[in-house]
Amino acid sequence: MTYSDVYNSSIKRLEAENIPDAKTDIRLLFDILIEKDRGFLLTHGTDDMPDDELSKIEEAIEKRAKHIPLQHITGVQDFMGLTFKVSDKVLIPRFDTECLVEEVMRECCDGAKVLDVCTGSGCIIISLTHYINDLEAYALDISEDALLVAKENAKALGKNVTFIKSDLFSEIEEKNFDYILSNPPYIRSEEINNLMDEVKNHDPMLALDGGDDGLDFYRRIAKDARNYLKLGGRLFFEIGFDQGESVSEILENNGYKDIKVIKDYSSNDRVVCASR
Ligand code: GLN
Repeated sequence: MTYSDVYNSSIKRLEAENIPDAKTDIRLLFDILIEKDRGFLLTHGTDDMPDDELSKIEEAIEKRAKHIPLQHITGVQDFMGLTFKVSDKVLIPRFDTECLVEEVMRECCDGAKVLDVCTGSGCIIISLTHYINDLEAYALDISEDALLVAKENAKALGKNVTFIKSDLFSEIEEKNFDYILSNPPYIRSEEINNLMDEVKNHDPMLALDGGDDGLDFYRRIAKDARNYLKLGGRLFFEIGFDQGESVSEILENNGYKDIKVIKDYSSNDRVVCASR
């Protein structure tokens, strides 16, 4: 079979299983698994695909047809221009979360002391460490498995982050942070069943479930973060599109000042920040 034949039959196979963006997924599988990019397909479409490449692609397409997330097949996801290793032990980094990182980058100075709460793959703290000089970077997660992935990512990208296994702040001894950031689990428990298969069956439940009203982690983090922030230190949360008001209220009830809700590129509320 030629490259074009495989490309076209793969699209049909995935579309038959209602995979959204089948073409993009196949381009990425070709690019990452057999290092054949779009340009190659255009110029060598009529070449025969060697057997070893064909079996790699066929195996991947069968997995994707079962709604296994693309990132669990390739093992990677790009975030803030960096490539992160992912597995089913961490939430796959989302494009939406770049908004949180960009908002912090607007004001965070070189050398700031920063803590990432619920770090998952480490994508937030590692990318900040990449774009801001001399960060004193700390990150926590309750999941040992997630921390292994985060540590591997920091090492692969040559970043220095202190990772701590901790149920929110329980094991954190450092204080006086300039910034505390978190993209915590924020889906309402009863909504989890309505999520796409790729999310509800493959992202860790621990990284999704925010309790009955989705706000459990915001309450707990807002209450405790005060004791770990410098006076004037800043707290940044990623939020769901309909949580701006409730999270602002939680921050207000906990005595934070300068509370601001920021929209993402789709004009949805996405980040809330406040000062201690
Ligand atoms: N902070 C990580 C991320 O943004 C994990 C978030 C989570 O587990 N809810 O990808």
